[in-house]
Amino acid sequence: MRINPETVERIKHAADIVEVVGDFVSLKKKGANYSACCPFHNEKTPSFNVNPSRQIYKCFGCGAAGDSIKFVMDIDGIGYGEALRYLAGKYNIEIEEEELTDEETIRQNARESLYIILNFAKNYYQHQLHHSEEGQAIGLSYFRERGFSNEIRKKFELGYSLDNWDSFSREALAKGYSAEVLEKAGLLIHKEGSQTAGYDRFRGRVIFPIHNIAGKTIAFGARILKSDKNQPKYLNSPETEVYHKSEVLYGIYQAKNAIRQLEHCYLVEGYTDVISLHQAGIENVVASSGTSLTVEQIRLIGRFTPNITILYDGDMAGIKAALRGLDLVLEEGLNVNIVLFPDNEDPDSYVRKVGAEAFKAHLKKASKDFITFKTEILLQDAGNDPFRLAAVIQEVVNSIVKIPDAIKRQVFFHRISEMMRVDEQMLITEGNKLLRKQQSAKPADRQPRQSGAAPGGGPTTWTPCSAIARLPANPPPIRPFRKKLRRKRFSARNCITRKRHSCACS
Ligand SMILES: [Zn+2]
Repeated sequence: MRINPETVERIKHAADIVEVVGDFVSLKKKGANYSACCPFHNEKTPSFNVNPSRQIYKCFGCGAAGDSIKFVMDIDGIGYGEALRYLAGKYNIEIEEEELTDEETIRQNARESLYIILNFAKNYYQHQLHHSEEGQAIGLSYFRERGFSNEIRKKFELGYSLDNWDSFSREALAKGYSAEVLEKAGLLIHKEGSQTAGYDRFRGRVIFPIHNIAGKTIAFGARILKSDKNQPKYLNSPETEVYHKSEVLYGIYQAKNAIRQLEHCYLVEGYTDVISLHQAGIENVVASSGTSLTVEQIRLIGRFTPNITILYDGDMAGIKAALRGLDLVLEEGLNVNIVLFPDNEDPDSYVRKVGAEAFKAHLKKASKDFITFKTEILLQDAGNDPFRLAAVIQEVVNSIVKIPDAIKRQVFFHRISEMMRVDEQMLITEGNKLLRKQQSAKPADRQPRQSGAAPGGGPTTWTPCSAIARLPANPPPIRPFRKKLRRKRFSARNCITRKRHSCACS
């Protein structure tokens, strides 16, 4: 079913912008309008305005703008339909729905039943963790050993799957769920030709539910605790109708408000890194678990902030992983920093060892922007070998030209020329050559994104005016630092905060 247009109109009519925003932010009357500190970016003097006569809000600091529905979508990170339902609830408006086409109904029902069974599974695993003998003895003691409090276990809805073939699926089938849906949700494995319903995918493992941005369980990560060489340490749900690995970040639901408020996102590797940092009071953290970083995941972060710090383990494999993934993040216009950890430490172990305060101090001290970081690592490797030094220059210039913002590129060329003691003009000439090559090779790749599908394939949702919306379609070549910059033409593609503007963000 879909909310019919008349209901949508009634909701829009009823939802007064001052009341809706006032539920989340304390507004002060200022002439005919209202103002507040912006809930979407960090600020001390209010630049967030609500205009009751036009029924819109607008932040002159970060450019966030829209009507009541858009405000709810963004503040809660939910889709259009969900925002309408929230407002209908607030104003006691009965929702009238209209029939979907047969195809739409089948799709929607299929998705709904997956969410329902995944939610059932999550509750089941949670129950086993806290109430079964095996769950307490193995799962709970493991989580306690890692220092996960009761509160944090609840926040992340951690669970345990019993160590036998079918205790979960037997329970689910007895409750009336079909084997087909269980299989589609990735919970049951059915061997073709087998007479039995199948067996549980997750057995004898602690369970980390994976949530979409609205908090629905869409998949599971599971870690085995006993040593069994035939079993992988971590096992994840397969791709399903509601779970597309490459578009999901572990912890985004729990982290999104902190990311928005602090205008910063930490990216770690594992589930336990995310949870340990939350436990230590660092909540703006997500993990790209199970995959190396993808463009979709980066864009998901970019919906909340352009500032990202990647926390990597201190071993060489971690460093190389960092270098590999990162040109991708630069291309998306995000500001990337890197923090490495001492040998044999990961964020999880390190925060448990040194405590929250020392950990935060380390983040501050050890944080380096990606270009500087990469240059240093490559220079160390190259030593005094002129051929290898030339290759390093190439490699670094190659990364710099991935940055869509011309001014930032300029800053980096300047810095790198000093670091490597080479002529800045030479770097820029080299960079411009590469830029021209890039532009003629793949012109379609740099289209700005004005909206993105919600993770898990939900309804298309609004993307706030972030760094992403500001990317120029084709980065213009740049000139040396001292020469006059060409004035950037203002358009939806390079929106920066102006008093009045129209772009993807408004
Ligand atoms: Zn703002």
